[in-house]
Amino acid sequence: MTGIEVRHSIVNGSATERLNMVLPSNFVELDWENLDYLGWRDSHSPHLGYIIRWQGETPVGIIVREADGPLSRQRMMMCQLCRATHTEHGVSLFSAKRTGEAGLNGNTVGTYICANLGCSSNIRVEVPSASYYADPQSVLAQKVSGLEQRVAGFLADVMRAQ
Ligand SMILES: [Zn+2]
Repeated sequence: MTGIEVRHSIVNGSATERLNMVLPSNFVELDWENLDYLGWRDSHSPHLGYIIRWQGETPVGIIVREADGPLSRQRMMMCQLCRATHTEHGVSLFSAKRTGEAGLNGNTVGTYICANLGCSSNIRVEVPSASYYADPQSVLAQKVSGLEQRVAGFLADVMRAQ
């Protein structure tokens, strides 16, 4: 995937927003095999982040906006996409502008997501601790399919016609 493809994949951003996107610093060395979706925070606009997933061969991406910085790091919070519960990276409330007319009218969809938008690596890190009760590979496979479904659902909400 190229940087141009990443920008073109964004469905809920203006031309300016797409142009201003800063790709992840490790973009050229990304481990695509182990990414259920590509998520990262914009290093120049820290309140912005991006979520890109593949629908078949086609990348579809959205811009998300962090509502208010990471929520309390004292309290265990659950990411609504990967269901990881952690305080380490924090969980933030992100909102995404709806596509089309809904978005122009200020309509957004919000959800709690790992603050670093790194669900794919977060679920892989947590697997070893689960291995005492189940085969780690099947635990991971379940987490991956759950994550993929919920990311797809979130994007579908953003793109849903009114
Ligand atoms: Zn997550």
